Amino acid sequence: MASEGAGKVESHQDGCCRVASRADTQTRAWVNEAVRKVEADSNRSADTHLHVFPLPASWGIELYLKDESVHPTGSLKHRLARSLFLYALCNGWLVEGTTVIEASSGSTAVSEAYFARLVGLPFVAVMPAGTSQEKVELIEFYGGRCHLVEDGSAIYEEARRLAAETGGHYMDQFTYAERAIDWRGNNNIAESVFEQLALERHPIPRWVVVGAGTGGTSATIGRFIRYRRYDTQLCVVDPEDSAFFEGWVREDGSHTAETGSRIEGIGRPRVEPSFVPSIVDAMIRVPDAASIAAARWCSAITGRLVGGSTGTALWGALRLVADMHASGEQGSVVTLLCDGGERYAHTYYDDSWLAAQGIDTAPYLATLEKFGDSGEWSEPAPV
Ligand SMILES: *Cc1c(COP(=O)(O)O)cnc(C)c1O
Repeated sequence: MASEGAGKVESHQDGCCRVASRADTQTRAWVNEAVRKVEADSNRSADTHLHVFPLPASWGIELYLKDESVHPTGSLKHRLARSLFLYALCNGWLVEGTTVIEASSGSTAVSEAYFARLVGLPFVAVMPAGTSQEKVELIEFYGGRCHLVEDGSAIYEEARRLAAETGGHYMDQFTYAERAIDWRGNNNIAESVFEQLALERHPIPRWVVVGAGTGGTSATIGRFIRYRRYDTQLCVVDPEDSAFFEGWVREDGSHTAETGSRIEGIGRPRVEPSFVPSIVDAMIRVPDAASIAAARWCSAITGRLVGGSTGTALWGALRLVADMHASGEQGSVVTLLCDGGERYAHTYYDDSWLAAQGIDTAPYLATLEKFGDSGEWSEPAPV
């Protein structure tokens, strides 16, 4: 894979040595230009906001939402796609004309389609058939092609097969996310959050709460916290059908789950290779109905329509805030607004979709409303 498109290697005998070289001047010129385009796109972009989520001032606890929905492609996957393209370009894996192929539940493919078009490469997204129509349309809007497969756990093999068949490159976000992102800084999501907290009352958060899809975001934040020696703990929230939680509890990276996840962007049918379990301090498994209740509640309270994974993260973050409040602890908690809710008008924000899925958000909404009124956290019994 490493040298697939980078120009043919020629070798010959020269004196006592054999000499081999690659004729790649044209390749390098194209790659240089592609890297410039990706860097220039980043240079034109602004940092994302760190919003304050309203909590009673008397608690002495601040909750922040890092708004990743405002990236040009609408989710935190914009950061990942940029890193994956730079990594692949700088590894010589992408050259002029390479077809870029990715296995995705949707958001990564939207962002990668954007970068593929930016550098002028064809793009194919291999996705589960249930992926939202809104995401399919966004990928096509950016000039990508969607290749849907019935079995969600078959996307990896299908992407690998397509790449082999077409001579394209399988980006493989689930393997490369944790290593393609610059974890020590370079304005990664962690560095950005800590810089934005600098003038707050509690600039070193007690908790950072994130979900895991590739696991790349939690790996970046967890490593950064240790690198900077911050007294912050990392909590990963996981949807009910995902493999990450059980795999972490059992310390079994080969753990798999039957169904994957109904919360798009997070929760996977297997523990992905990019998930780094050793830097996670706590995990919370959140029922899907609670995630959706929290997404809707968040949208009502902040006036920003948020996606399902933001609901999962917010539910976990509010639980931790409630624990801190109950024990009289002051401090700050940070979580992510991963993407906007516009993408889920026909799912999480559609009552008839919820009914068809057998999801009842009412008991979880009651938990949130009670918390909002009194600071007390009482959850429905497990179902
Ligand atoms: C990918 C994704 C996440 C999780 O991020 P990872 O870095 O892949 O673990 C959360 N929410 C949404 C909407 C996503 O697309």
